[in-house]
Amino acid sequence: MDGTMDGTKAESAYYPESERLAELLARIGASLDDKVRNPPIDPYLTRAQWEHLAHEPVPLTPAPVDELVDELISLLIPNGGRVSDPGFWAFVTTAPTTAPLVAATAAALGAPVRYGFQAVNAIEERSLEWLGEIFGLPAHMKGLYSSGGSSANIVAMGAARQHAFEARGLDPARDGVTGTPCAFYVSPETHHTILRAAAVLGIGRSSVREIPVDDNLHIRTDLLAEAIDADIAAGVLPIAVIANAGATNTGTIDPLRAVATVAHDRGVWFHIDGAYGLPGYLDERVRPKYDGLELADSIIVDPHKWLSAPAGIGVTFVRDRTILLRAFTQGPADYLEGSFADDGRIGVSLDSPGIPYGDFGLELTAPSRGIQVWAILREQGVSGLTERIRRDNDFATYVARTATDDPRLESLTNPDLSVACIRYIGDGSHSNDELNELNRRIHRRLVRETEFLPSTTVVKGAYTIRPCFISPRATWPLIEAFLPTVVRLGDEEAAGSMP
Ligand SMILES: *Cc1c(COP(=O)(O)O)cnc(C)c1O
Repeated sequence: MDGTMDGTKAESAYYPESERLAELLARIGASLDDKVRNPPIDPYLTRAQWEHLAHEPVPLTPAPVDELVDELISLLIPNGGRVSDPGFWAFVTTAPTTAPLVAATAAALGAPVRYGFQAVNAIEERSLEWLGEIFGLPAHMKGLYSSGGSSANIVAMGAARQHAFEARGLDPARDGVTGTPCAFYVSPETHHTILRAAAVLGIGRSSVREIPVDDNLHIRTDLLAEAIDADIAAGVLPIAVIANAGATNTGTIDPLRAVATVAHDRGVWFHIDGAYGLPGYLDERVRPKYDGLELADSIIVDPHKWLSAPAGIGVTFVRDRTILLRAFTQGPADYLEGSFADDGRIGVSLDSPGIPYGDFGLELTAPSRGIQVWAILREQGVSGLTERIRRDNDFATYVARTATDDPRLESLTNPDLSVACIRYIGDGSHSNDELNELNRRIHRRLVRETEFLPSTTVVKGAYTIRPCFISPRATWPLIEAFLPTVVRLGDEEAAGSMP
């Protein structure tokens, strides 16, 4: 360290500490390892600490980086949320494994953005091809990374909109959608980000048609066909049919081939939302449920869900990436194109723009996300990933079956994938409303007092406790301890206030 590290650093406005990265990252790494090894149950962020953080004034003078690293380690990392806990089973959220984190850190400085024909640009494309290959997509389907399922669905629906309008000789990207009534077709299990896609793309949330489901929560293809035919007869332009490959609520997989047939028979775009569930394809026991996958015009998956990539990584695959160019072009910009030579030279010095991901979707500047997916696949291989996916599916099956066998519990679903929906029913004397209230209280106590953090949902009118098993850190002993804890809390709550 030189003599300028005196805490005031008067001679420069900038304090790049990159030459100390190794040392600083080592300290952060030790703290993160510790959080993962010893996850705290009781939040120990005191109200005073929270107030301090929430009202911390803007720093007016520089401070040594060691000071902020100290605060990261003492205050922020340990109090940053429990998503990385082995028992965190809420929503479809988990924390990354080590390899993609390390790769993300490497990319943040080594290749911070994805453009240019450089090593990480090449890996971006290769990692997309790898994902397509392991999930059984046809080779002509090409991918694009974005920040997650929300944006991945918007990109896919933008392509669908372009396709539908172009079939009528119109260009919605150039001229807008004014004057053309349109529709999306979904099931009640479809993720609500599709509604947002409809809003953003000018289709309108009120033009999203919700088609009823059958007892297995699968979209009713007969009613789907009727709805599309009625719209066509009324002059409405159908934009896309959206099928679930792993609905968020229950993990259910729609009958993809049958849905594809209804859509394609009518010239309508067939989209599969596999944000959570596409990796389930790796489990050969479930694979037959993905029959028809190859018929998708677009399909999305979130590596930041079941693959445990760091948050902020979704993928859209489309049958033809040039339609994305037309749907999302930003028009040429002198400052961009002029800076590259594009003479076929491959090199790191603004030689070629590389693959123009910035023209395929919503983002121009974007991080190199592919290297993180590359790291996951390099570290675990298809066999490692498959083993994890199978294990997670086994967890859900075990929980559902055990709940079915225990007279004090009930399973509301027969899991397709790694989501279980169970509830406490006690001695059977309670009304549905009482059970909803009882299970709400059980859930509160689970997340406040135990190492289990499932979320909840409503299945067929029943408020259920919903563990979604995607955490790479979950273990069999933890899974086995879960339902006995639910029963214990349920018995206590039932005895306490519902005598
Ligand atoms: C999580 C999820 C989304 C939204 O993805 P984000 O990455 O949270 O934006 C969309 N569809 C499904 C099925 C999901 O599970």
